[in-house]
Amino acid sequence: MTIRSLSDLDVAGRRVLVRVDFNVPFKKGVEPREISDDGRIRAALPTISHLVEAGASVVLATHLGRPKGEPAAEFTLEPVAVRLGELLSAKVIYATDVTGSDAQLKVSNLQIGEVLLLENVRFDPRETSKVATEREALAKELASFADFFVSEGFGVVHREQASVTDVAKLLPHAAGLLVEAEIRVFKKLLEDPDRPYTVVLGGSKVSDKLGVISHLLTKVNTLIVGGGMCFTFLKAQGHEVGNSLLEMEQIETVKGFLSSAIENNVKVLLPVDIVVADAFAADANHKVVSIQNIEDGWIGLDIGPKSCEIFTDAISTSKTVVWNGPMGVFEMEAFAAGTKAVANAMTQSSAMTVVGGGDSAAAVRVLKLDENKFTHISTGGGASLEFLEGKTLPGIAVLEDK
Ligand code: AMP
Repeated sequence: MTIRSLSDLDVAGRRVLVRVDFNVPFKKGVEPREISDDGRIRAALPTISHLVEAGASVVLATHLGRPKGEPAAEFTLEPVAVRLGELLSAKVIYATDVTGSDAQLKVSNLQIGEVLLLENVRFDPRETSKVATEREALAKELASFADFFVSEGFGVVHREQASVTDVAKLLPHAAGLLVEAEIRVFKKLLEDPDRPYTVVLGGSKVSDKLGVISHLLTKVNTLIVGGGMCFTFLKAQGHEVGNSLLEMEQIETVKGFLSSAIENNVKVLLPVDIVVADAFAADANHKVVSIQNIEDGWIGLDIGPKSCEIFTDAISTSKTVVWNGPMGVFEMEAFAAGTKAVANAMTQSSAMTVVGGGDSAAAVRVLKLDENKFTHISTGGGASLEFLEGKTLPGIAVLEDK
């Protein structure tokens, strides 16, 4: 089974439909809408430029947010088209519908080297429909816009959706440069990681990461757990966690993880101290306490300095480090130190260092760390977790040719 690369497609003079992931965040409460982090747009530039330079015309499809299958002003792609044009230093044509009359007209007028962005694919309810024939109908309309399909939206390859999977079945296809790089990295992690192999998990919920934890417990040497999810682990070990995030219904599962770690000889590192606050607020009173001393009424919002040291040590002696999920509420300065410590330790390591999308990738940018000092920053949060779980991702499976 192989997946074709961009360079395997003879695109000169042809139209190429590229499924990208331009699901970018916007500044809250700012009008007109302003993109707060254009990382996902920048990540697709090499593929777009490659196609333009190879003499293709490029039709881009993406979703933005979760509109309810109909147009909604807050989810239009116009600001994305403007930003893309700035980044490409070229005019980007913007269609005001997905496959309607405006898109049809603009696609048919598209010249070699031009780039067209279709309106948010999720304005069409068929994009995410559970009914295959509905998705296929939209995929046919999209496929009629191009001679080739390129999959470049790693953030959505774990989804069975019209513009991700169905359209790939209708056109000769290839993985874009970004998706290709993501596949290379995650295959290495799954099949042949250099050891010691350490995975750092954080973020708010254990329940989102059950699959990945249980899979990793037979694969890694060290599992580090921080963030909101560490409190369910601490509680499972008999500690009181005050008003910190806690998923009582996961306690038994977590106890199972802890004993499976012992059986598999996997070291699980949990925080030994916590930054607790008297409210979930940037200006709350806060202090560092050991995990034995989290009092009622206090909320754990970050890992403490001793934990940072222990986690940093484990990271610096590893040959492969994967990180998914912030160590604390990094969006608030007072609770960002744990996340900074983990990220900094990764930037200073000579190991293969991978940041698993979503909030961790955002944290790298928000904390203004040097992105080039990581081996790979994934553009897919959910997709990277599912990849790490060893699941088949439908948007990648569909690209495989015999
Ligand atoms: P997730 O969406 O599960 O990846 O979680 C990311 C979010 O977890 C971020 O917005 C963090 O602010 C949040 N987070 C990290 N640590 C904590 C914590 N100790 N308590 C509450 N939220 C947290």
